Amino acid sequence: MKRFIDKVVIITGGASGLGLAAAHRLAEEGARVVLVDLKEDSLTKAAAELPEGTEVLTVAADVSDPDKVRAYVKQTMDRFGRIDGFFNNAGIEGKQNLTEDFGNDEFAKVVGINLNGVFYGMAEVLKVMRDQGSGSIVNTASVGGIRGVGNQSGYAASKHGVVGLTRNSAIEYGQYGVQINAIAPGAIMTPMVEGSLRQMGGDNWEEVGKEFVEPNPMKRFGKPEEVAALVAFLLSGEAGFVNGAVITIDGGQSYKY
Ligand code: NAD
Repeated sequence: MKRFIDKVVIITGGASGLGLAAAHRLAEEGARVVLVDLKEDSLTKAAAELPEGTEVLTVAADVSDPDKVRAYVKQTMDRFGRIDGFFNNAGIEGKQNLTEDFGNDEFAKVVGINLNGVFYGMAEVLKVMRDQGSGSIVNTASVGGIRGVGNQSGYAASKHGVVGLTRNSAIEYGQYGVQINAIAPGAIMTPMVEGSLRQMGGDNWEEVGKEFVEPNPMKRFGKPEEVAALVAFLLSGEAGFVNGAVITIDGGQSYKY
């Protein structure tokens, strides 16, 4: 399948986990990709591992800084002149703690990246897509954005916020030929989830992981490639009438009572 020939896709959080898996999938399908992440060195490494011949632009930027967001969109336009897809995905989990102990600074930090960053990205990219009369955005929410998980005040608030932003903007921009959807992954084995398991189990994190997936109907973690396949479908144009949707990808766990 080569659904992305001549298409330009920006991926935030593109140097690791879900963003990197999506970069591989989209590049394999012919996309020109823009990888946005915090550090130049991890971006350089990620870009070097993409399929040979991939046209790739890397931009080191903190998505919680609106000037940096404006800059990655401008650099994309300067280099490629259009934006067909936007995987608005960078995020952090934050510390796990009771609400009363969560801390104002930690709350502001998590919301600043996971929610403000998603908003800044959408606001800039939507100007371009509206002018083009086409485009598809996938925001990364989480099962923690549609269900209560516990010990995640900042994450829960930010990811529920991403769901709200997605629905709101989808209503506004459908008329311009732009789709805006969110994905709500459950536990997908990426460096973020490993970090989270380490917070719970220290060196024993792999054992903790086994217990963690026991309640899942499929008894396993999801794979980044499985999320990448969903993201590719939503960005490809094949899903052209899917708009304002929040799609869970969690082995069915969030439907379980
Ligand atoms: P990850 O830690 O492997 O990758 C996240 C990437 O985002 C990293 O490369 C990191 O450097 C980057 N990043 C963090 N803060 C940034 C900032 N301020 N500016 C730019 N880049 C920044 O994690 P992941 O599991 O791939 O997570 C990707 C997204 O998926 C996140 O939004 C996360 O909340 C969401 N998510 C993940 C899971 C899961 O189980 N892995 C589940 C639900 C939602």
